[in-house]
Amino acid sequence: MPTPSIMETRRHQIFPTLAAAEIERVRRFGEVSCYGTGEALARVGDVGRGMMIILAGNVDVTHRGEGGRHEPIVTHGPGAFLGELAQLAGKPALVDAHAREPVQALIIAPDRLRALLIAEAELGERIMRALILRRVSLLEVGAGGPVIVGRVDNADVLRLEGFLRRNGHPRQRLNPDTDPEARALIERFHIDPGQLPIVLCPNGELLRNPGENELARCIGMVRPIDPNRVYDVAVVGAGPAGLATAVYAASEGLSVLVLDCRAFGGQAGASARIENYLGFPTGISGMALMARAHTQAQKFGVEMAIPDEATALRTPGDATDSPFVLELFNEERVRARSVVIACGARYRRLACTDLDAFEGASVHYWASPLEAKLCAGQEVALVGGGNSAGQAVVYLASHASKVWLLLRGTDLGASMSRYLVDRIAALPNVEVVTRSQVSGLEGRDGVLEAIRWRNGSSGVEVRRPVGHLFLFIGAEPNTDWLSGSGLALDPKGFVLTGADAGGDRLALETSRRGVFAIGDVRSNSIKRVAAAVGEGAQVVAALHAFLAAARPEPALAARPG
Ligand SMILES: Cc1cc2nc3c(=O)[nH]c(=O)nc-3n(C[C@H](O)[C@H](O)[C@H](O)COP(=O)(O)OP(=O)(O)OC[C@H]3O[C@@H](n4cnc5c(N)ncnc54)[C@H](O)[C@@H]3O)c2cc1C
Repeated sequence: MPTPSIMETRRHQIFPTLAAAEIERVRRFGEVSCYGTGEALARVGDVGRGMMIILAGNVDVTHRGEGGRHEPIVTHGPGAFLGELAQLAGKPALVDAHAREPVQALIIAPDRLRALLIAEAELGERIMRALILRRVSLLEVGAGGPVIVGRVDNADVLRLEGFLRRNGHPRQRLNPDTDPEARALIERFHIDPGQLPIVLCPNGELLRNPGENELARCIGMVRPIDPNRVYDVAVVGAGPAGLATAVYAASEGLSVLVLDCRAFGGQAGASARIENYLGFPTGISGMALMARAHTQAQKFGVEMAIPDEATALRTPGDATDSPFVLELFNEERVRARSVVIACGARYRRLACTDLDAFEGASVHYWASPLEAKLCAGQEVALVGGGNSAGQAVVYLASHASKVWLLLRGTDLGASMSRYLVDRIAALPNVEVVTRSQVSGLEGRDGVLEAIRWRNGSSGVEVRRPVGHLFLFIGAEPNTDWLSGSGLALDPKGFVLTGADAGGDRLALETSRRGVFAIGDVRSNSIKRVAAAVGEGAQVVAALHAFLAAARPEPALAARPG
């Protein structure tokens, strides 16, 4: 039996109706507007005016289905409200909404909506839950997002789908071999098979195998940064450390901008199941945990610039009151009174010929449901011996027919927690091969057909028909962009903080006053989600102390002579 959709199971929470008294209470947050019959209250791809509470009349909410046809989602009457997470952040709408008859609505702009959510705790919770569930239900059907035309196993299709999935953005995929709508698009835009995938954006623009930045800008995920604005804090990295800083700093009244070059969630967002995060006894997927933090940060008014990559940090002179400048890959600039470096670490690659030819489609650095689906019923191999490797093995074993765990050392227990070692030992379709090293990859067009590994003790080379290879062999700090900043790094490139960075530095402060480093990128940090979140919370006290000391005293009014 198919799993019921969220729309079927939680409809009453997705579409709550506000009581007359509740509407009266929130009137102060908005302004009333009127719409004529057939007029649009929201249009896919356009940034709307905010959340809209219907005071009179009915509004049809639709999404664009096959061939651009309007498919009904719901009809809102008086007391219902229009909006989903996009309206919280002032992003383009994912649905269309038209007045069925003359309509009167209370329009609540994004900044006023955030104020309402904080001021009205119980009502705010109901509205917030509805906004989140509406996004989840749009994700289920892919409504309002771009349409990717390409084969499921194509590396660029995986790249684009992975990018949108990690950013919680709806998307649809059409197979050019089987889908008549895909074939119609290919013919209409004269696309050669070699130009696939193509992406049709909600604004009607067609992109040919775009980069993530191009796609994000086309669908309005990221907007230009105001070069004149000086933020209290600029956070580089939207992993658990950066998101924690954002939530705690913004909830205490600081203006915060968070940049991430890929997606919110960082490495944690790639974790299939986090079992050691406080308060989740049955575990939680990294994506679910991080999506909550991302939404929470937006509720407190944090500005998100994703994807945007910091390429340099400029620290003008030594004056503590000069704003820092972050230079971005797209040549924009961010000015901020303080900077938190939370840019984490990246996966180490295997020294193996042709590895890059298979990356994306057959060689993976994380094991999410997307990769697990690709491995269904196949033999896969995983290299690594840490906890993240162990979790991925356990997860993949429930999808793949066989998982080879290739280990350089001799003892799995040397680097992996005991509970994972025991769990792996109990899995009949997992085989641990110690003292082994991958010696060759075989396949074509990015599709892996077999791998070879050499056994360290015997020197014998083994070949297996492995279609997917997972690499969990550690990480290096994302600190290349800091090379001209003058910040003190340890020999491996991790950022030094506290006493290690200079005699009188605060905890988490780098060798440059006002610049802080937290989470995996920090030298000697504990590489765990909980530690990253803890440091993200802790650094806010240091930020307050620095900003209070750096802010010039208000000038005394001149006394009349
Ligand atoms: C597959 C996997 C499973 C894991 N499972 C667990 C687990 O179960 N429990 C646990 O405690 N830990 C787990 N970990 C470890 C945990 O995820 C990390 O310790 C944690 O995510 C570190 O958080 P962070 O915010 O410091 O950095 P990261 O999570 O690495 O986030 C850094 C962010 O910065 C961004 N960034 C980098 N450079 C730039 C730049 N120049 N400009 C803009 N943005 C930039 C990156 O895109 C990234 O999103 C796992 C890790 C992996 C890879």
